Amino acid sequence: MLSPRPRMSTQAAFSLCGGQKTVNGFFATYINKKGSQTMATIETCSPRRQRTRQLQVGAVAVGGGAPVTVQSMCNTDTRDVSATLAQIAALVAAGCEIVRVAVPDAEAAAALPALVRGCSVPLVADIHFDYRLALQALTAGVACLRINPGNIGARWKVAEVVAACRERAVPIRIGVNGGSLEKSLLEKHGHASAAALVESALGHIRILEDLDYPQLKVSLKASDVPRTLAAYRQLAGQVDYPLHIGITEAGTTWAGTIKSAVGLGALLCDGLGDTLRVSLTGDPVEEVRVGWQILKAAGLRQRGPVFVSCPTCGRCQIDLIPLAEEVERRLAGLRLPLTIAVMGCVVNGPGEAREADLGIAGGRDVGLLFRQGQVLRRLPQAQLADALVAEALALERELLAAQGH
Ligand code: SF4
Repeated sequence: MLSPRPRMSTQAAFSLCGGQKTVNGFFATYINKKGSQTMATIETCSPRRQRTRQLQVGAVAVGGGAPVTVQSMCNTDTRDVSATLAQIAALVAAGCEIVRVAVPDAEAAAALPALVRGCSVPLVADIHFDYRLALQALTAGVACLRINPGNIGARWKVAEVVAACRERAVPIRIGVNGGSLEKSLLEKHGHASAAALVESALGHIRILEDLDYPQLKVSLKASDVPRTLAAYRQLAGQVDYPLHIGITEAGTTWAGTIKSAVGLGALLCDGLGDTLRVSLTGDPVEEVRVGWQILKAAGLRQRGPVFVSCPTCGRCQIDLIPLAEEVERRLAGLRLPLTIAVMGCVVNGPGEAREADLGIAGGRDVGLLFRQGQVLRRLPQAQLADALVAEALALERELLAAQGH
């Protein structure tokens, strides 16, 4: 018998089998309760994506229906190759798919060949104004430039950069930022409004279009959500270039996470955004973790487990909060997107725990352990975390083995 609704274990199987996307859903492999597999179409609730052109950032496709990628930016001194490579490795381990480094001067540019060699994902060089740094970065082998053509200066300098990009098939990200908008636009619009951001972007785009180089993506970042949303929505109605989305200077990890989730979530649910960067005043590894959580919450990507836990209330009869935190910490490394539910009582607990791949529903100092809709055991509270973790690891092993991994 098929599960009544798509379970996360099903999606795990999908990701391993390589399903086929459809317009409103995807074909996936159901694993039924006897362990055999059935192909079926799952209707997803994922937002319909606005179609953009596709470009390649190294081996990573951006736009044109490719998965929305998570990127981040190193905050090490780019000249310090070992520190920067260590941070890149940490970012990649957390799921970063494209990494950017600042290239403020020739010394930083001189570090790029070593960084490109040591970086397992595409590396983006972030350059302001100096076309020579852009040329140096391209010679070093970066996969993308973040540079605004209107800020490079004389047209021949822009043409030289574009020629070098064309030769290596390297795209350019136009990065418009509310904090560094052209003076003329600030005077015209009175402040860095959404319309001013869009006008700036269109100016930079025009320069590349005049040079017949449409290998570009665009970001329009303001530090507040409403302005950022308005800017992206306006631009998306006018061009079909891939959009790199983000709320710039969003704040510290706590506040910035909320701001980014609201802003990026709204854009993604509008179908906008081809790649994202969460900007936090903190460890960039957190940016990657938050970026993935946003994509998972929007139903656009799957990576690792999905945790469901209740907020607790006066009905809760087990010490749920530390239990949920322990389970989340110990299962964070799961490869498959298993759904793990940790619930406090018999009101909503059994329902959620049954729907999840694995779940606990608390009772008075005890809990019921569920696996794929069935009660496995009734356990004292002290044994719940170990039992749930062990079952989750076992289920993942079985699913991977069933797929030949
Ligand atoms: Fe309260 Fe039970 Fe709901 Fe948790 S599952 S919030 S304990 S009613």
